[in-house]
Amino acid sequence: MKSVIVVGAGIWGSSLALRLAETGWRVTLVEQHKPGHVRQSSAGETRLLRCAHGADDWYARLAWQARDGWRRLGERAGEELYLEAGMVWFAGTPDGWEHASATVLKNLDIPCEVLDPADGGRFFPGFRGDDLSFLLWEPHAGVIRARRATQVTAALARAAGARPVRARATPVAGGAAAVEIDGEVHRADRVVWACGAWLPALFDGLPITVTKQDTLHFAAPPAWSVPETPAWVDHGASAYGHGDVDGVGMKATSDAEGAPYEPEHGPRVVDAVSVERARSYLARRFPGLAQAPVLFSQVCQYALTPDAEWLLAEVSPGVWLLGGDSGHGFKHAPALAGYVAGVLDGAYGPEPRFGLHDRVPSRGLRTSGRVG
Ligand SMILES: Cc1cc2nc3c(=O)[nH]c(=O)nc-3n(C[C@H](O)[C@H](O)[C@H](O)COP(=O)(O)OP(=O)(O)OC[C@H]3O[C@@H](n4cnc5c(N)ncnc54)[C@H](O)[C@@H]3O)c2cc1C
Repeated sequence: MKSVIVVGAGIWGSSLALRLAETGWRVTLVEQHKPGHVRQSSAGETRLLRCAHGADDWYARLAWQARDGWRRLGERAGEELYLEAGMVWFAGTPDGWEHASATVLKNLDIPCEVLDPADGGRFFPGFRGDDLSFLLWEPHAGVIRARRATQVTAALARAAGARPVRARATPVAGGAAAVEIDGEVHRADRVVWACGAWLPALFDGLPITVTKQDTLHFAAPPAWSVPETPAWVDHGASAYGHGDVDGVGMKATSDAEGAPYEPEHGPRVVDAVSVERARSYLARRFPGLAQAPVLFSQVCQYALTPDAEWLLAEVSPGVWLLGGDSGHGFKHAPALAGYVAGVLDGAYGPEPRFGLHDRVPSRGLRTSGRVG
């Protein structure tokens, strides 16, 4: 039986542990806190699932596969983890990111529809879209109950035989396929460091920058609820959100990259400037919500690579780094786990795009049109 130690029980590590445990691997899942703990990126109340990725079709395909994965996971857990409310993209130009996305989605037969900005009122009360060229409607996009999904995935991994260990692991000198926990070395055929924003502190020289990201939910009238109100993204304005899920309020937040951040000890308090930025966006796009009180807020962090492509690299025999999710990794987790399992099995090599080469700065994969 092949053995693997997965370090990190965020959604990437937990999904991988589940997949490997169900396909005959002996799995140990090491996590320093509890799965779903609020410092991890996977513990946001919600995360969006969208297939549009600009001109890229690899991630679009993976997201479409992941949608099935979330639905199956929800059925297994007996919980609605994925709320398929749809998503509206607000396109500021006729031939920009959203146009490229629409072309890819159509080529892949992933349903989408180009709408007139005036149709925005059908989805969002008081919508103002007179500055927009068109809307792109993705009916099968939606919202994942992220923190809950992470806890459920970790629990399913345990039930499938993955052995949970609550500890902080460190790499061993010399690059062996092993981890050190409290002075003791544990070996396996493969070790996967799925440590999110903690990864750059564990391995030198990684192309990953960690930034503080504030998310905000506002008190809004009942019409602003998922699934009646869909998710939305304004790529040009680096803003996104969705209707209320579970009573925490309508989400409206900036996707612009925040200040450098340390995930273990960084303050978990949102900045006043984030509230101002979200409010000014609401005033412009959804004027009826300009004065809506903040109901709930969370601080999280991005683990960004320069080009927003992920990192999946073998740094010494059997030792793999899995990270650099760049703020767009949650939705893909069930499908990504299957892909990474194939790499660990030796069925195929990782995409060259995930390597440790010098990366050319780009944000084409993110929901933010801004670089830096
Ligand atoms: C504000 C915000 C909004 C986002 N929106 C979206 C979205 O809409 N859609 C989307 O798809 N994605 C989104 N993302 C990205 C998504 O949340 C991440 O891609 C995903 O959660 C990454 O999961 P992970 O498992 O890699 O990392 P994490 O969830 O951070 O997990 C890493 C885990 O490793 C553990 N760990 C670290 N070091 C050690 C160690 N030495 N020993 C033991 N354990 C260790 C940590 O405790 C942690 O639990 C968003 C992210 C943020 C911050």
